[in-house]
Amino acid sequence: MPNPTPSPTRIEAIGHSSLGRPLLVYHHGSPQAPLRLFFLCGQHGDERAVQRAAERFSLALEASPELLGHQLQVAILPSANPDGTALRTRHNAQGLDLNRDHLHLLTPETQAIHRFVAQWRPHLTVDMHNFPSRRLHLLNRGVRLAWDLCLDFPTNPAVPLRDGHPLFASLSETLDQRLSAAGFRFGRYTMVEPNGSSRHGTPQRLDARNVLALRYGAPVVLLEARNPSARNAPHDPRHIRRATLLACHELLRWATAHAASLLAPPPAPTRVPLRSRRRKAASPLPIPVIQLATGQPELLLSAPYRPSVQGRRSVSLPLAYAVPRTETTILALLRRHGIFPTAPSPIPGCQLIPVTPATGPLLALLLEAESSFGLHQNHSVRRITNLTETSYIEALS
Ligand SMILES: [Zn+2]
Repeated sequence: MPNPTPSPTRIEAIGHSSLGRPLLVYHHGSPQAPLRLFFLCGQHGDERAVQRAAERFSLALEASPELLGHQLQVAILPSANPDGTALRTRHNAQGLDLNRDHLHLLTPETQAIHRFVAQWRPHLTVDMHNFPSRRLHLLNRGVRLAWDLCLDFPTNPAVPLRDGHPLFASLSETLDQRLSAAGFRFGRYTMVEPNGSSRHGTPQRLDARNVLALRYGAPVVLLEARNPSARNAPHDPRHIRRATLLACHELLRWATAHAASLLAPPPAPTRVPLRSRRRKAASPLPIPVIQLATGQPELLLSAPYRPSVQGRRSVSLPLAYAVPRTETTILALLRRHGIFPTAPSPIPGCQLIPVTPATGPLLALLLEAESSFGLHQNHSVRRITNLTETSYIEALS
């Protein structure tokens, strides 16, 4: 096969930070390539190592466009929070944590990310961070976390492509093999709590990976590289950068090999779980750690371990939700998610929000009274479940 025609890097400003800094996406590969991968980096401004790794990755793709083959195009946003990076803060200049703002979209940065995803429609999004290996309760036990790089998946039970899906198991296995063979410590991202319990992900906080996967149906993974900063010894930025770049390159290979699955994600569910419960595992989880005194690796047994999240209180999706016009906060939030009412509304005093396969799971989590994420707990939003309730179907067509 001939080499693909080199396509120069295109730089797109997808929006601006709250202080007016541009959010720059670097596009690599042919715009005609069918499979689109989005690397979202630096939502937390103080995680600078992963932003530098993303810039290196972009330069590597510019120098060697053949890495993308014929099937892939890649978009890289190295610095999603340029104000936080300039101010050396986790939060943006409004004092908000971008990765906790994907449900409400109150920041210009998350709004720009969602607009970009809605328009560019990546088949896989990689949300990249740095994690601290030195946590106080571990230091008190004389150890720090050993992983160089961790992977995780959406955990909210309403997300179709989530923890436990075979596609993610395959990606995890591939990265584990490649990174371990190259001498890096790889694992699944795990939170070890001060009380010794451990779990993956935060289904109760709808972060980028969960909300982007919910809203757009395509897989999202979390890539967490150990923070190699001087403040967070060991200070080994090159080692961590090599691990991060190796994972990024391996992701390209894996995505090409799984193009058919990524191009045809599973259909959106018709029933949506509104709450979740963590199952306790029968045995504790061995967490790889490093002894601070000797530098030797050991396994810390973390119990209780709660590996999986189970959905509860599932509802069938209605045909539409009727939201009173007075619920301006809800209607504005839906608009920020690109979800608009039908006009004109056939129900007096209400805006009618049609439920589609694409919007259904997110709408249910936002609007159902029983949802733990529900914006309304007062039953003022009506579920429209049958055609006799209204003639709204004409308004939809
Ligand atoms: Zn982070």
